Amino acid sequence: MSEFKDYKIDTKCIQAGWDPKNSEPRVLPIYQSTTFKYDSSEFLGQLFDLESDGHMYTRISNPTVEYVERKIAALEGGIGALCTSSGQAATLISVFNITSAGQNIIASASIYGGTINLLAVTMKRMGIEVRFFTPDMTDDEISALFDENTRLMFGETLANPAMTVFDIERFAKLAHKHGVPLIVDNTFATPILCRPFEFGADIVIHSTTKYMDGHATVVGGVIVDSGNFDWSAGGKYPELTEPDESYHGVVYTEKFGRAAYIVKARTQLMRDLGSSPQPIAAFLLNLGLETLAVRMERHSKNGLAVAQHLAAHPKISWVNYPLLPDSPQYALAKKYLPRGACGVVSFGVAGGREAAVRFMDSLQLAKIVVHVADARTSVLHPASTTHRQLTDTQLTECGITPDLVRMSVGIEDIDDIIADIDRALAKI
Ligand code: PLP
Repeated sequence: MSEFKDYKIDTKCIQAGWDPKNSEPRVLPIYQSTTFKYDSSEFLGQLFDLESDGHMYTRISNPTVEYVERKIAALEGGIGALCTSSGQAATLISVFNITSAGQNIIASASIYGGTINLLAVTMKRMGIEVRFFTPDMTDDEISALFDENTRLMFGETLANPAMTVFDIERFAKLAHKHGVPLIVDNTFATPILCRPFEFGADIVIHSTTKYMDGHATVVGGVIVDSGNFDWSAGGKYPELTEPDESYHGVVYTEKFGRAAYIVKARTQLMRDLGSSPQPIAAFLLNLGLETLAVRMERHSKNGLAVAQHLAAHPKISWVNYPLLPDSPQYALAKKYLPRGACGVVSFGVAGGREAAVRFMDSLQLAKIVVHVADARTSVLHPASTTHRQLTDTQLTECGITPDLVRMSVGIEDIDDIIADIDRALAKI
């Protein structure tokens, strides 16, 4: 990998990871094999003892997956990565790797709803408590949430669907003051728009299902380790600094140094939870990654153009896009997202719920889907779909107004996207 170190990120999207030797396939091969062959039992024994490099079983690692992990680690600037079968699995493993029953975590309230369910409902049943904070709280108010059982802080670079920008530098400092790492979900920004490690985050996760794949073909996730957090310093992480009885007493920090966290996530949790990606899924993800930089540039350009067009339209009551100068997120967006703020725009249609539904049903190019962040422009009306059980008051409480439309602006020609929007707005 060292030969890729000095290339720019757009080059790494294409070239990092698989690096064929003489006469090997130019394109990353799909190693569709659950199992691997060894010349001797002794070598296999060394593999089991984590003394040799190689693959044992595709639940734990696989060559196709490994090359994609190397590429993503290079893009984020981390020392190692672990691909998972979904973004949810990445979140679960990233937290559970260093948190046990009786402990707690501090999370931003502005994160993906599925993550809130995972942390507040399912992980609660595992004995892990989540304490939410909002960015308008002072550092002292947030500090009051920490205690001796706090193990990490969690936030989302560009929150889905609120599009709030997480002040990574501020919260990394706060987390470190309390001796815990900051985990950042970088799904919407991708490493093309923001690299959280450069602002002090310790672990990055993604739902690769979104822009990284970018074509709505494979569900997947990834955890990336910066290698920067000192797990031994405060005595809070015995799972990394004391013998793992389930792995012949290995002490991850002693044996793997800076890579302790990501090695344990693989050798212990992936072994036990089994939420690994299929080689074909990693292959498809790699195809998406090859064009990530050019796609993110176009998504961001089109997203901003749609936001500006909507902001000037009489039938639109409000627009939420971090790079609009009057957005409360503008200053943070300028700092953390210098290359753009992706293609997700939320807005209110004047006339409320009925007008929003009529607008969506009148679109032709943009299709109604639940998913976001792929090449095709799509829309969702949360109040009549994902959140339809809620009353208007409940919707407002969770930041989803009845008039809210979330548009995931694709990479089609911007003239066609705007013509589609105008045609549909003319019908209401
Ligand atoms: N994180 C974010 C920001 C997401 O938007 C999503 C899914 O929408 C997830 C995590 C969960 O990922 P997946 O659907 O791949 O499990």
